[in-house]
Amino acid sequence: MRAAQFHAYQGPLDLVDHPDPEPGPDGAVVRVRASGVCRSDWHAWMGHDSSVTPPHVPGHEFAGDVVAVGPQVRGVRLGDRVTAPFACGCGRCAECRSGHQNLCHHEYQPGFDGPGSFAEYVFVPHADVNIVPLPEGLAFDEAASLGCRFMTSFAALVDKARLAAGESLVVMGCGGVGLSAVMIAAAVGARVVAVDLDERRLARARELGAHATVVAKDDTVDEVLQLTGGGAHVAIDAVGSPLTAAQAVRSLRRRGRHVQVGLLLAGDAAPPMPMLEVIKRELVVTGVHGMAASRYADLLTFVTDRRLEVGRLIGKRIALSEAGAELAAMGDFAQQGLSVIDRF
Ligand SMILES: [Zn+2]
Ligand SMILES: [Zn+2]
Repeated sequence: MRAAQFHAYQGPLDLVDHPDPEPGPDGAVVRVRASGVCRSDWHAWMGHDSSVTPPHVPGHEFAGDVVAVGPQVRGVRLGDRVTAPFACGCGRCAECRSGHQNLCHHEYQPGFDGPGSFAEYVFVPHADVNIVPLPEGLAFDEAASLGCRFMTSFAALVDKARLAAGESLVVMGCGGVGLSAVMIAAAVGARVVAVDLDERRLARARELGAHATVVAKDDTVDEVLQLTGGGAHVAIDAVGSPLTAAQAVRSLRRRGRHVQVGLLLAGDAAPPMPMLEVIKRELVVTGVHGMAASRYADLLTFVTDRRLEVGRLIGKRIALSEAGAELAAMGDFAQQGLSVIDRF
């Protein structure tokens, strides 16, 4: 098969020939029809992620059809249109058995723990646990665009924060995660205040349902407090920086809920948090690590029942040969929309 591989951190992605993956006893092989290009792929390529060593094939947001399954697989058939969460579970540990496959003790992430979906085919372990069938009306590129950022925002707002109609939400950062959050919150019936440094991204947030937008600056928190009548019910930091994480928490009203979604890596891993505010206002501070495979059905129902036009989150469709240039361009924070590889 053809795959896009880097041989050194921050080096070019070369198109190489690899043997086709095998499904093993209980896995599956998916022919990749669409693969998102994500900031987590960029982190791996930059060398920020200790689990990734070159040579490496990135890619973890994919959709396609099943071309091989292991002899022990029961619920997945050849030709099924499918996706899989980026954090695959083993199906047997305590977390998996309680429905939290994304917190599996033996987690496997395609594109990090093994070769990813910047390739014609990708391996998915424990297919009966991790393979998710797609509804008929959902295109492969739309499904791929749900596979990481949208799904994480869904887990943050619907599962963790239990955002309700009529509540207010502040979203720090309007990249893929943030814009997904805007779309989900608007569909729930919440009032959304979106914050970003970039005017174009704020314009996108308004198009996707944000009620108010704030250009990030020193007094961002004061402005959000004003716009939300004393603080938001729910906040998410979709940037992943010590500054925006703390600003998100400070933007909450009493008993507000903060969900940390943006990754805080390396030197940012232990940011200062206003814990006195957490105590005095009884705030809830939590995080999300993707979403469990078992929650995918509800996410897909949410998208199809409410006719969410998730394709609007896609900024660009590219060929596999362009994946390297796309990753290299991700250092630019002002990037617009998700990029999806749809030609292999
Ligand atoms: Zn497990
Ligand atoms: Zn991703």
